[in-house]
Amino acid sequence: MHHLDATLAPLLAEREAQNLYRRRLSLESAQGPLVRVDGRELINFCANDYLGLAAHPALAQAMAEAATRWGTGSGASHLVCGHSAEHEALEQELADWLGRPRALLFSTGFMANLGTIQALVGSGDAVFEDRLNHASLLDGGLASGARFGRYAHNDTAALAAKLAASEAPRKLVVTDGVFSMDGDCAPLPELARLCAEHQAWLMVDDAHGLGVLGEQGRGCTDGLSTEEVPVLMATLGKALGGFGAFVAGSETLIEYLIQHARPYIYTTALPPAVAAANRAALSLARGPEGEARRGRLRELIARFKAGAAQLGLALMPSDTAIQPLLVGDSAAAMALSTSLREAGFLVGAIRPPTVPAGTARLRITLSAGHTAEQVDRLLGALAELAKP
Ligand SMILES: *Cc1c(COP(=O)(O)O)cnc(C)c1O
Repeated sequence: MHHLDATLAPLLAEREAQNLYRRRLSLESAQGPLVRVDGRELINFCANDYLGLAAHPALAQAMAEAATRWGTGSGASHLVCGHSAEHEALEQELADWLGRPRALLFSTGFMANLGTIQALVGSGDAVFEDRLNHASLLDGGLASGARFGRYAHNDTAALAAKLAASEAPRKLVVTDGVFSMDGDCAPLPELARLCAEHQAWLMVDDAHGLGVLGEQGRGCTDGLSTEEVPVLMATLGKALGGFGAFVAGSETLIEYLIQHARPYIYTTALPPAVAAANRAALSLARGPEGEARRGRLRELIARFKAGAAQLGLALMPSDTAIQPLLVGDSAAAMALSTSLREAGFLVGAIRPPTVPAGTARLRITLSAGHTAEQVDRLLGALAELAKP
């Protein structure tokens, strides 16, 4: 055995023994409320396709038409010659939608977060992060070289104390808008007020709010100005059903990122056809179709929560499409996910290190594409398999 494999194999075995081993599914159908896996149709409650747009024909058509016009590859990074009129239009439409002076496309949300945090703070500065922030935000903060501090989840008093004690010239406060594994929202107006008081910069990652929450689906920062949330980041691969991510903010912020965000500069631009699919998604999401889908999603969330309450299930406090069911033990969470799968439901078990030790959970996600009957069937299965 090669030394590499001999070193890694026991670590994999250890992970397996701890019930923390990850295995991928291979879908045999498009993304949607019903998916085919291993030749079996399953009702899907684990995607982030909250509006049910990932397989919408309008997006597919926009992508196909754009591929015919632009080809498949963008050919280069944005700064060389990979930036097209399709990218430019998407950036302008995003900025217009969100009431921001400008927006900047990144190839993925992970890269947007790494690039933005590393561009904004470095050695001598300070970054403050919610303990439950997404891995890409935590990694960006750790890699930035700034003094890295985590505060207890949504604990604005703890953050205030840390900000008051910091004399760093640049202070960056970073939070998920909707927490990806919990479904609850950050107290954004209070965070914005604290940041103003301490001359700190607020960065919000709205990967799970954009398209779903707020007027026209503007997300959880709807109603907060560029002054209050100077760095707004969100992704296009979740509710928008496309791919990629962006940062929105002032003209100066965007120009600074173009000069300094390394994961922006040194990567190939998204294919223009992907930008075109994102544009079609944006237009649907902000219009009456998006409004109708958000309405359906809200009804399904209310139905699921009411049903789960009746069953006495340990749902975590969330009003969003992310409805985690706390299990605790990793093996028990895996077993529950497996028995749900046997019953015809796809629900992911989320285990450490994605969530804190001892808080393994089922991450149930709802989509506007689900029917009320599918939600009722999931409740029926949970009644049988997840009785508290
Ligand atoms: C999914 C996600 C990301 C990463 O976005 P990608 O475009 O998938 O790389 C970043 N932040 C949060 C909160 C996310 O949920």
